[in-house]
Amino acid sequence: MAPALSHSSLCVLFITPEVHPLNKTGGLGDVSAALPVALRELKVDVRLLIPGYPQVLSGLKHKRKIAEFTAQAPFPSSTLLSARLPSGGSASVPVFVLDCPTLYQREGGSYTDAAGHDWPDNALRFGLLSKIGAILASDASPLSWHPHIAHCNDWQSGLVPAYLHFYQGKKAASLMTIHNLAFQGVFPADTVVQLGLPAASFNINGAEYYGGMSFLKAGLYYSDHIATVSPSYAREIQTAPLGFGMQGLLATRREDISGIANGIDTLEWDPATDPALVRNYTASTLAAKAANKQALQQLFGLVVDPGIPLFGLISRLTHQKGCDLLLQVAAQLTEMPAQLAVLGSGEAVLQQQLLAMAKSHSGKIAVRIGFDERLSHLIEAGADSFLMPSRFEPCGLNQMYSQRYGTPPLVHATGGLIDTVVDCTSATLADGSASGFLFLDMTPAGLLGAIRRVTLAYNNKSVWRRLKKNGMAKDFSWRSSAAGYRKIYLSLLS
Ligand code: ADP
Repeated sequence: MAPALSHSSLCVLFITPEVHPLNKTGGLGDVSAALPVALRELKVDVRLLIPGYPQVLSGLKHKRKIAEFTAQAPFPSSTLLSARLPSGGSASVPVFVLDCPTLYQREGGSYTDAAGHDWPDNALRFGLLSKIGAILASDASPLSWHPHIAHCNDWQSGLVPAYLHFYQGKKAASLMTIHNLAFQGVFPADTVVQLGLPAASFNINGAEYYGGMSFLKAGLYYSDHIATVSPSYAREIQTAPLGFGMQGLLATRREDISGIANGIDTLEWDPATDPALVRNYTASTLAAKAANKQALQQLFGLVVDPGIPLFGLISRLTHQKGCDLLLQVAAQLTEMPAQLAVLGSGEAVLQQQLLAMAKSHSGKIAVRIGFDERLSHLIEAGADSFLMPSRFEPCGLNQMYSQRYGTPPLVHATGGLIDTVVDCTSATLADGSASGFLFLDMTPAGLLGAIRRVTLAYNNKSVWRRLKKNGMAKDFSWRSSAAGYRKIYLSLLS
């Protein structure tokens, strides 16, 4: 049972492997930065637990050592530091940093080495994060601050609910948010026992997953409640193929699953004040958006022409994101009056294919390989339409950024994209809700058909203007999502 909610506010330990701007590989980093801020505005006392990667330690000021954990096989000793996230001044979010140099202080990525291979000791690295998360969420914690809820995020914190389940003392309730079910944290079967979980938990009713063990499966099985980052994704993962082998378990837990669409950081993503733009603009000064298009065309070496519709794409370059589909339609795209600016990094083969595509269509298609936060803002502002042909998308953030930037998105009808983009039809134009374009068929013909719809709408000045304004008027702030999470927390206490 969680400690009673009495005089103190609702306390939540938010366990995450990444947080923007310290370390971010995708949407989870954004969510971990913005959701806690919105929850704190609702008087929820949220504190983060994150691993002490080099960029976390160097990016946080005024760190205080608050606890030490002695080595306990297989885990090395570690230290808990207390600090506050860089943004927000005195209102910024408190963060606990798990400092364990042998596991986290190394050159390379948060989950992979510089060559993109998973760190061989990832089970240990995130087993420790989970173990300490569970300790802090129980009466074994050395701290005086005791959370009511352990809010876990993705597989890296998936063992928290399992450790808590088998702990006999007082403990917090657990919530497992799935940001992407495709990442499951699968390791050899004996990892269960190595990490100190009972052998019996290596079971179909437990952490076992097709002969191995899965951190995420353990989290989904043992947590008190499950959340996904959009309502549509919550439904999709209860059946194949998007259940990725966990659909059976998820279907049996359907009463315990909530779908809450992510919000976005509306301060950081605001075309009126964004310092990465060449010119700022609002819905009533939309003409200024054109300067950003011009700058983007120049920067990417595209033909500078305000009249050609420019599509933008910012993405992890993976099969999930549909980059292969884009490659298949590239030649036809260049036959239309259309341009494409791509920013991304990911699978080496896709990177090479995209670069080759740009080389053979220079002036019309341009590709930048890399992770560039600032450039991503300029693309959102400078493009006319934003492409997201994702095979599946738990929520997606860029389609919300692009609507806020007056850049109607073209998206595959899946997951959070269904929930956050309203397809442009005569009915939705009439009722003022149209804000982008959805396509159903994940085929070259499906995508090309949608691209043609965008270019047609683009050439109708009044339609295009309405689409931009409708998107810019939408409220994508974290307020309502945070209220949804608060409601779940409270329901778990009762
Ligand atoms: P996912 O988490 O699956 O990667 P999301 O759309 O939820 O997808 O979030 C991706 C986030 O990462 C967005 O903020 C997006 O702008 C950012 N991003 C992805 N790739 C890059 C890149 N190459 N450069 C800059 N930002 C990127």
